[in-house]
Amino acid sequence: MYNIPCKKCSGKGVIPYFRHVNGGECFTCNGSGIQEVSKDEYSTHLENEKFRKQIEEKGNYVIYNTENDTVEYFKTEKDAVSEYGNFYCGSYGGYSCRVFYKHKHIKMNVNRGGNDFINACRQQTLIDKQNKQKERIKILNGWLKKAIENKKHADEIQELKIMIKEAEHKLQKI
Ligand SMILES: [Zn+2]
Repeated sequence: MYNIPCKKCSGKGVIPYFRHVNGGECFTCNGSGIQEVSKDEYSTHLENEKFRKQIEEKGNYVIYNTENDTVEYFKTEKDAVSEYGNFYCGSYGGYSCRVFYKHKHIKMNVNRGGNDFINACRQQTLIDKQNKQKERIKILNGWLKKAIENKKHADEIQELKIMIKEAEHKLQKI
């Protein structure tokens, strides 16, 4: 078995709220502050700890750049503002976030100990890219339709068909 700090009392052995019951001793760990867990739970614990320490070192204001898929951290909101200027409250990928007026592709969220915001942003960026490409295919198809209607030269029609094929191929690869 593996030992980790008790999740209920955060390894303190007591829960202040229950001080009136048995001195507040934690029932989960019997006051030891230690909890026995399986190997899987232990590695999850190490993983979370690693992430928590990273956040602590880097700062918990996480910034995602939708243009080049980069992540940046700031310790305070002031630090972020001095770098990117003022922001407004917006949303991205289903998360409310702060968007910078001068850099609309940069989204900021306060990290609460998970990677959810960044993952949601990445997902949204892909959807945006797909939609953009679908729009492009639609436009090309419109051009093709017009070219056929106007009895344009066969080469021009062929050229458009190739462009559409390429665009569809690109969409599949996103
Ligand atoms: Zn405990």
